[in-house]
Amino acid sequence: MDEDISPKARAAAAAPAKPQPRPQDPVEQEFWKRCQDGHLYFQKCGGCGSWRHLPRYMCARCGSPDFAWEQSSGKGKVFSWTVVHQALHTAFAADIPYVAAVVELDEGVRMATRLIDCPIDAVRLDLPVTVAFETIGDDFRLPVFRPA
Ligand SMILES: [Zn+2]
Repeated sequence: MDEDISPKARAAAAAPAKPQPRPQDPVEQEFWKRCQDGHLYFQKCGGCGSWRHLPRYMCARCGSPDFAWEQSSGKGKVFSWTVVHQALHTAFAADIPYVAAVVELDEGVRMATRLIDCPIDAVRLDLPVTVAFETIGDDFRLPVFRPA
């Protein structure tokens, strides 16, 4: 029956779990912890109101250390992308080719991510996308994006 299994399915079954982010810094840990409820949150500056990502202790615009975590719309557009054809980690072998992208959220922040449910030749600049969460390992939710 092995001949009925596609090479991709075989690679996925044999692959180790995808690695999870292991942030050392408390403010980065908070970002990933908040992703686990299936929503995306970013810091919003208490001084000037601008959104921040990557997580940090001071606003890059006004220098304020004040912030609150606010829920993102989860909506954005493709700012940049590349197609990955070679898995540098065996956990991703079943996914290639896949799209690694930088998405610009409606709040103005940009994040590195992966596009799912999107044919490679359909990717374009400013493609509207919305956040989704891929479960890796037993229970870790990783934000990815799919066409809106
Ligand atoms: Zn600020």
